[in-house]
Amino acid sequence: MQGYQVILKETRDVAEGTRLFVFEKPAEYVFTAGQYVAFAVPNTSGIEVDPRGLTRSLSIASAPCEPDLYFAMRQGESSFKQMCWQLKAGDTATITKAVGFFLLPSDSDMRPVVFLAGGIGITPVRSILKQAEHDGSKRSFTLLYSNRFAKDITFGEEINALDLERFRAITVLSKSTDACAPLNDERGYICQPMLEKYVEDILGHLYYIVGSPEFSDAMEQMLIGLGIPKEQRHMDPFTGLRTQAAK
Ligand SMILES: Cc1cc2nc3c(=O)[nH]c(=O)nc-3n(C[C@H](O)[C@H](O)[C@H](O)COP(=O)(O)OP(=O)(O)OC[C@H]3O[C@@H](n4cnc5c(N)ncnc54)[C@H](O)[C@@H]3O)c2cc1C
Repeated sequence: MQGYQVILKETRDVAEGTRLFVFEKPAEYVFTAGQYVAFAVPNTSGIEVDPRGLTRSLSIASAPCEPDLYFAMRQGESSFKQMCWQLKAGDTATITKAVGFFLLPSDSDMRPVVFLAGGIGITPVRSILKQAEHDGSKRSFTLLYSNRFAKDITFGEEINALDLERFRAITVLSKSTDACAPLNDERGYICQPMLEKYVEDILGHLYYIVGSPEFSDAMEQMLIGLGIPKEQRHMDPFTGLRTQAAK
């Protein structure tokens, strides 16, 4: 695969079975918050590679204003994931130029934004919100972030600590039976009553849906049911990502 060779600086586990890969950003590399790349990992241990090969689409989880390139992934059994989990500081991967249209509109359109993110779908949302924080954005952002359990929440502390003027993050846990915390904490699946609880003027918002194809379809159907026009619905379905079974 042609592209940019990037050097791994470090890895960190950022949720259960979820790893952050921090790469040096090539000096000439440009992207917009919310975009993704084709990411290829080399077969350094000579394993037999499954038919899916060693390349996947991955959203860039860091913001353009940050010095490094972040990618975050859920663990899996594919050859690709096995090779990624063996990566250590100093190893390289290859990425293409960044592509995709999961982008905020320009500042001439300051309509408020709602993110509906499922699981590891938080990656492009982190990028967008970190860039908005850096830019001192005055836009209103609401994030409904769905996970099965609290242990699956990725970048949770960082997101709650964002210094944005108009931002609210709501944690939604679909499988947890723990009691809700007093503020911005919900149980079950993201649904119409939940959206109505946190979003005033539902028809006046832009919606950004990102997560597994099943999650994305469910969110899109909910928005269609609410009469949100296509122009206000932005989708970034993570094709290939399975909805995880509850553990
Ligand atoms: C734009 C975009 C951004 C993404 N960003 C991230 C990210 O930031 N982090 C992250 O972890 N993942 C992301 N993904 C998903 C990622 O590309 C992988 O598909 C996912 O991580 C699963 O990889 P895997 O190697 O574990 O499983 P895979 O080997 O990819 O397979 C998982 C399952 O999906 C099926 N499958 C594989 N590919 C397809 C396909 N194209 N269509 C239908 N079914 C398929 C397989 O048969 C298998 O059942 C993104 C996907 C897209 C399209």
